[in-house]
Amino acid sequence: MIVVTRRGVSDAEIDRIRERIEQLGLRTHISRGEHRTIIGCIGDEARLAEASLLSLPGVESVTPVMKPYKLAAREFVAEPSRVRVGNAVIGGPALAVIAGPCSVEGRDMLRTTAQSVKQSGAALLRGGAYKPRSSPYAFQGLGVAGLEMLAQVRAETGLPIVTEVMDTRQVEEVSGFADMLQIGARNMQNFALLSEVGSVQRPVLLKRGLSATIKELLMAAEYIMARGNRDVVLCERGIRTYETATRNTMDVAAIPVLKRETHLPVIVDPSHAGGRADLVAPLSFAAIAAGADGLIVEVHPCPAEALSDGDQSLTLEGFGRLMEQLQPFATAVARPLGGAATSPTGTAAA
Ligand code: PEP
Ligand code: MN
Repeated sequence: MIVVTRRGVSDAEIDRIRERIEQLGLRTHISRGEHRTIIGCIGDEARLAEASLLSLPGVESVTPVMKPYKLAAREFVAEPSRVRVGNAVIGGPALAVIAGPCSVEGRDMLRTTAQSVKQSGAALLRGGAYKPRSSPYAFQGLGVAGLEMLAQVRAETGLPIVTEVMDTRQVEEVSGFADMLQIGARNMQNFALLSEVGSVQRPVLLKRGLSATIKELLMAAEYIMARGNRDVVLCERGIRTYETATRNTMDVAAIPVLKRETHLPVIVDPSHAGGRADLVAPLSFAAIAAGADGLIVEVHPCPAEALSDGDQSLTLEGFGRLMEQLQPFATAVARPLGGAATSPTGTAAA
């Protein structure tokens, strides 16, 4: 249920409305917009029937949220959410680009990649230390050594780091290093893991499962949010279809559908969606044109030698070119390309 207040409602009136709802055993979530405040109610909505909320001063309307997801629902808050990750913002006016290698393979390659993608305009650095691989014999990531390299390169470049957490047992450790926790496609419905990352104070990048519907993606976000962590960014990364010419099929329509259904920021991963470096640019253009809030792109200094996902990784120069080519698309949707709020020294970054 959501309670929308009248224009000019006072704080005392909001407090009274809130108290009334909480007396009935429900929890409240206040969202202040420019013109109105929304009080979201979580709990047994049947109890609100007897509360005659409409008669309370300051209440304009009382509406049930019919969707199975509540905290993630667009109606639940006054304005679309912005998620701050270190000194970057995802879901703000600027398009946020996350770039970096699929896996952290060593300190030098990570540093070189980070410096280069930053120069090209990336606002965040990605890199997997724990890798979900289809084969148990494939490179599984450097683990804690990889996390340490990420933290060191963050200190050097100021780029916030995004890295995957695969298991509930890793959440505490990875949270100690990462600015943003990535939940991979294969773990989108690992409910224990979702609850665990919902309990920590770290923004979460939630990737859509290979065969997950949009509703299931939103319910996965709800799991995280229900535990108290509201900083969730959704990622369309391609779904599995009968098509074999591409690694996955990028669901472009998911972007506007998600933007309508939820207040959470939505980004796109063109690297895993297409599975080929030459598809990254066209898929990125489509994503931005369809309303995405940003991109996550795999970049490697020497893709031919990458220990994972080399085929889809851009070279450093290729990423620079992509950022230039994205410019007219960013202009078309009236959003600057950037996403970095402030540099480590506190001044505006490019
Ligand atoms: C990745 O980002 O490298 C990755 C494994 O992504 P996904 O979970 O979307 O396959
Ligand atoms: Mn990858």
